Amino acid sequence: MEMIAARILCAGLYASDDQPLNFQEQVFTEISSGIICILFITPEKFERNAQFRTLLKNMATFQGIHFIIDEVHCVKNYAYFRESWCYLSQLKTICPTALILMMTATLTYNNARDIMTNLGLDFSCVKIIHGATLKRDELIYEIIKKKEYREENLKETITQIKSIPECSIIYCATQKDCYEVADFLRINLRDENIKVMVATNAFGLGINMPDVCLVIHYTMPLNLSNYIQETGRAGRDGLSAKCILLYARKDVRVLYNIVAGERESLTDITTKGEEMRQVYLMECQKKIWEIIFFCETKYECRQNALTQYHNWKTPLLEIQSSTIESSCGKCDVCQLRAKEKLIVKDMKMPALKLLNVVEVITGLGSNIIIAKDVVDIFCKSKSALPKYKELEIYRKEQDAEVKLTNDEAKRLFNDLVIRGMILTDIILQRGKTAGVFSWTFPVLGVSDGT
Ligand SMILES: [Zn+2]
Repeated sequence: MEMIAARILCAGLYASDDQPLNFQEQVFTEISSGIICILFITPEKFERNAQFRTLLKNMATFQGIHFIIDEVHCVKNYAYFRESWCYLSQLKTICPTALILMMTATLTYNNARDIMTNLGLDFSCVKIIHGATLKRDELIYEIIKKKEYREENLKETITQIKSIPECSIIYCATQKDCYEVADFLRINLRDENIKVMVATNAFGLGINMPDVCLVIHYTMPLNLSNYIQETGRAGRDGLSAKCILLYARKDVRVLYNIVAGERESLTDITTKGEEMRQVYLMECQKKIWEIIFFCETKYECRQNALTQYHNWKTPLLEIQSSTIESSCGKCDVCQLRAKEKLIVKDMKMPALKLLNVVEVITGLGSNIIIAKDVVDIFCKSKSALPKYKELEIYRKEQDAEVKLTNDEAKRLFNDLVIRGMILTDIILQRGKTAGVFSWTFPVLGVSDGT
């Protein structure tokens, strides 16, 4: 609409029956005669419309054509269920000399490489134009551990909204949660003059409001890129805004069900399809671990963690180290650091001992080992399984210098996982009830350092 208002002649084609055939013909005629100079088209329409591709081919020989792929991260994110995005690799085949401008607000270096491969482009020929900074100083991040009962979490949501009685967005993982949260808010905020939007975080929303002061994730986001995008909708007026995430590790089930549920229990009939399915599932797991690590870290400033996530550590870009080194001083991790009396403890020996425990018990080749088993053996806990109590590593007196409390050992274990020194996996299995997954994070072993 803005383009029409600015008197730029443009048209849009999409893959549905709503547009009559003669409309398309009229658009093609107007493109050929130079009346329409900008055409919006979906990847699906581009793939299914041979006539349009022929038109492009004919025009490419005598007229300059430029392509713009907006939200280019979808080439990777949608590769499995909207294959038409990958079909955009035909753009270069049809018009080899055409320039392609690709735009996105969310992309890591590795994903960029994958996208170029999917589009059949040479990564070394791609010029990257980067925003001045990815850091959003005005955003204050906080992760709050979810309580056991829904009612408690709904009350926490209300408390947060009332603390900033302006415009808020609440992201939920499912429509069911959206309705539940919205109903609860309606009842409890009936007399308040507060603007709240409740939305699913499945695919993001085209929200561009300047005065959003609070973004709440009622369930953790699908991945860190989504989190950056979704929280980025707060504070667009440059004023301070809060980003609260209600975190529970058990929500992994919900996330995995959304991103991988249907593909988790099926096998693809073709080899290529099966390979793609496996790659897709591994990507899903990796992204879930990233968000878990982000939520569970007690050491790293949230602001820094997010800034670094999108920083491309490559010679293609010169990263200004000053922008990523300083802590924000405002997020929950920074606040905790300021409050807690910092105890400096050399953890080298406990870390080595813990790694040794992992090595020994994963080497036994027995059943699935979980973090609790490792911590129980390390701390010589009475609740350790009888078979582990028989191990020498359990029975041997612990040196004073490696002694830790159960809680400290858990934190050390998580830290070693985050650092990639202990290898783990996610196993989610479909239960008897439709859509319900059970989940386990088995410990696989110690990294060989590669
Ligand atoms: Zn911070």
